[in-house]
Amino acid sequence: MKALDELTFDNRFARLGDAFSTHVLPEPLDEPRLVVASKAAMALLDLDPAVAETPVFAELFGGHKLWAEAEPRAMVYSGHQFGGYTPQLGDGRGLLLGEVYNEAGEHWDLHLKGAGMTPYSRMGDGRAVLRSSIREFLASEALHALGIPTSRALCVIGSSTPVWREKQERGAMVLRLAHSHIRFGHFEYFYYTKKPEQQAELAEHVLNLHYLECREQPEPYLAMFREIVERNAEMIAKWQAYGFCHGVMNTDNMSILGITFDFGPFAFLDDFDAHFICNHSDHEGRYSFSNQVPIGQWNLSALAQALTPFISVEALKEALGLYLPLYQAHYLDLMRRRLGLTTAEEDDQTLVEGLLKLMQNSGVDYTLFFRRLGDESATLAVARLRDDFVDMAGFDAWAERYKARVARDGDYTQEQRRERMHAVNPLYILRNYLAQNAIAAAESGDYSEVRRLHDVLTRPFEEQAGMEQYAQRPPDWGKHLEISCSS
Ligand code: AMP
Ligand code: MG
Repeated sequence: MKALDELTFDNRFARLGDAFSTHVLPEPLDEPRLVVASKAAMALLDLDPAVAETPVFAELFGGHKLWAEAEPRAMVYSGHQFGGYTPQLGDGRGLLLGEVYNEAGEHWDLHLKGAGMTPYSRMGDGRAVLRSSIREFLASEALHALGIPTSRALCVIGSSTPVWREKQERGAMVLRLAHSHIRFGHFEYFYYTKKPEQQAELAEHVLNLHYLECREQPEPYLAMFREIVERNAEMIAKWQAYGFCHGVMNTDNMSILGITFDFGPFAFLDDFDAHFICNHSDHEGRYSFSNQVPIGQWNLSALAQALTPFISVEALKEALGLYLPLYQAHYLDLMRRRLGLTTAEEDDQTLVEGLLKLMQNSGVDYTLFFRRLGDESATLAVARLRDDFVDMAGFDAWAERYKARVARDGDYTQEQRRERMHAVNPLYILRNYLAQNAIAAAESGDYSEVRRLHDVLTRPFEEQAGMEQYAQRPPDWGKHLEISCSS
């Protein structure tokens, strides 16, 4: 276990130089204080969890202090936002403080979001508010616990610094961890600004540090792109299977590592709704829940365009063609498991689709449905769940089909079935209203609810004594919360 001053830095991205990022110092927050820290994320840096409570922790991640070996940089990138190309974006309010390597030999980017203005701030103030910092923190750690690839969050530091959004709020910083903060938009930036040397340098950097196994392939860049396609297909399959809506799938928010990245107005579905739009600025529903699947491919095509200097168009097209079948295979595999099935049958896809169709507009809680389905035998569970459906006759027909499918699946006890299903069907998810309650308390200075909620969400599959209130459907006020995009 390490103390804070024992971290070892190796700032590989900073060494790429000024064409890739600009040296900027964090701008400190007033009266920094710990809101919440993730012990599991601290362990990634081998940090002793006790150090989170020390004043120096809040000073370091509140922008007051810096390790001598840190080299804070604002990265430049661009990207397609809502389908249109924005020629220059970049870290407008976040800084890559440096890269730390742990005892297992892994490198982790330390990225401080809300650290003040940079050359890429455009019209922004460089700040992040407490509300959005808590949301990013909770979402990263909750997705990780569900087994969904994501950036991690070490802590949120609150402050008394006033920040103006629709109203006056307080500034905060969230310390994000990822093996890399390189986005699709990094490649797009060097491609569209016609900087082939830097573009090549970036590609080498990513290949050597993050896709080294592709080096052995006859066409290393193509192998790397294929791998990126595969990882995205798998990540988005998991979003869809667990009802996660990202909300702002612009290419500057897509990680080159295929991890969930840059949390904005995200949401987990409460009631199932394929057309759900969590981002209130997304008037056309470009990033609606079901559109996430084709948008994943659209984003990969944007990346492919930026990789045309290295890979032939035919090969890129072929690799892009892998996306949908891979997505479908991962998705179906997960949904089978969510239904408690251990074998695969041709017709399973229509079994899943039939269920979702019945759920649509029925007001069925997406998370609790699957959990309840595993609580009892298939026969007892469907009998209990049918009341939730508007089209009960339709559900009965589906239920008959499901029971027959379960009977064909194998011979196991209800005990085994429950255990297997509960291991993939969470009881606790980050519902918007739960986050909202925790944020309201934190805004009045009480951080206990954020900490408790974080703790519950780190073990989403495990029934936790005394935590029943976190496994409920949202109250009416919590069903249609407008999540502001100004964060
Ligand atoms: P996002 O929609 O949060 O992914 O942000 C898009 C771009 O706007 C990124 O380049 C951000 O760094 C930048 N940005 C967002 N909010 C702010 C802010 N308050 N100050 C400066 N830049 C910001
Ligand atoms: Mg972003």
